[in-house]
Amino acid sequence: MPPQKPERAGWLIGPAASCWPPQADSQKASPQAGDLPHAYHLVLLGAPGVGKGTQAALLCQRLRACHLSTGDIFRAAKNIDPSRLSPGMAQALQAMRRGELVADATVLQIVKERTDCLRCRGGFVLDGFPRTLEQARALQEILVEQNVKLDATINYEMPLPQIIARLSGRRTCAACKAVFHVQNHPPKVPDICDRCGGALVQREDDKPEAVGVRMDAYQGSTAPLIEFYGKLGLLLRIDATGSPEEILRRTLKQLKNRSAATRSASGAAE
Ligand code: AMP
Repeated sequence: MPPQKPERAGWLIGPAASCWPPQADSQKASPQAGDLPHAYHLVLLGAPGVGKGTQAALLCQRLRACHLSTGDIFRAAKNIDPSRLSPGMAQALQAMRRGELVADATVLQIVKERTDCLRCRGGFVLDGFPRTLEQARALQEILVEQNVKLDATINYEMPLPQIIARLSGRRTCAACKAVFHVQNHPPKVPDICDRCGGALVQREDDKPEAVGVRMDAYQGSTAPLIEFYGKLGLLLRIDATGSPEEILRRTLKQLKNRSAATRSASGAAE
């Protein structure tokens, strides 16, 4: 059993953090017969509210990979004194509050500052990046430079009305970030976190005016990535309805099937 991973300091605070060292080429793990490879490199796609963040956390626990979320970086920046924010980050936070996408240049700068995280020896699960074709193309270039190959891109799929109901009912604990839903997973006491007693709030970008903007941004900019990754032969499509554990099981099954298919194809080619 590999040791517990340290916190994702490198992804959240950048290169100055002392996270796990990047993986040297010689340390790359090879797939084990019948099991999942040790270091998985995955991109998660799906509309906002489809449950990507939850699946990313479960997958990372299961695969011992790093959960790399660009949304987490922008949310962490919200706690910084506004007078200390760079102009790019201040604009990014304004875009985020409105539910819009942050400019590609800002997102790419943030990712490029963290390329070591893409070579983490535990592998990675990218959640919320890339979100545009420009970001996806840039990621391909970065991965080539870093000598890292994506294993798969997982697209979580759910009917639109269900996604909108999920987003508008979601409530997050202001203190510990636990997530509830007014109907599907209500707290025992309204508006109070079951876990830590903190106040439950609606994320600014889950408010009705921002949800419409986010869905439009998804349809216009992110949905085309399904075709992009389909053409690269990397796309796995997963039904995102049901419990988080069921969805995780579906995902792991497809990943195992894909690993087995890749192994038998490379065996046949030898
Ligand atoms: P998320 O938690 O992934 O839904 O991200 C929250 C918000 O951060 C999004 O609604 C965007 O405003 C911004 N954001 C996060 N990742 C990206 C990205 N890759 N490209 C553009 N904007 C992003």
